[in-house]
Amino acid sequence: MISDLPGSKDALQRRGLMFILSSPSGAGKTTISRMLLERDEHLCMSVSATTRPPRPGEIDGRDYFFVDQPQFDAMVEAGEFLEWAPVFGHCYGTPKAHVKAGLKQGQDFIFDIDWQGTQQLYQKLETDVVRVFLLPPSLVELRRRLDARATDSVEVIDGRMARAQAEISHWDGYDYVVVNDDIDRCYAKVTQILAAERMRRARQTGLIGFVRELTRPVISS
Ligand code: 5GP
Repeated sequence: MISDLPGSKDALQRRGLMFILSSPSGAGKTTISRMLLERDEHLCMSVSATTRPPRPGEIDGRDYFFVDQPQFDAMVEAGEFLEWAPVFGHCYGTPKAHVKAGLKQGQDFIFDIDWQGTQQLYQKLETDVVRVFLLPPSLVELRRRLDARATDSVEVIDGRMARAQAEISHWDGYDYVVVNDDIDRCYAKVTQILAAERMRRARQTGLIGFVRELTRPVISS
């Protein structure tokens, strides 16, 4: 049997892809990424570097590489980022080396980055990038999700709502837009996108040899 996934014994060679999931906070991006990572062994997360301080429970090297501003600036200077951007007062960037080597070996990556980073990755590596944007089903529901999250003040939640709406205005910079009205339905749609994108001809680098073999002249005895 021939699988479209790397790792299987008979798999056709395939180049990995960069699966970008963006959304305003409260649209379910973190939950969907987590489900994908738990259920799909061929996906791994691209871990960004950030100057933002760690939140409780976050682990350096797993959630982010936490660096200070001079370290971040040095990484920019040394060309170590595929993209970077300031987001809500801190700097965030995607380290280059790990992702580039992984793609060559057929590794797929999920990116939790904002619209600015998405634009930059698309400009640099268009054919490797799949851009998915998640939307909340309504403003009322978005507000309910942000309210339910923490014990923040009304002003803080208002600020998050405004930021969420600003983020939503970039929906048209994406290949796919999925409304997250139900987490399982949304997950199913996202996995369908991933499955189809993995089968793109351009990603199946092993196809040429395979098809050559199928079309070689057969000499009958
Ligand atoms: P948070 O601080 O809540 O983890 O992330 C804040 C925002 O920064 C989110 O919208 C997230 O998608 C974005 N972000 C995280 N890592 C990167 C990155 O490497 N590059 C860019 N451009 N945005 C990022």
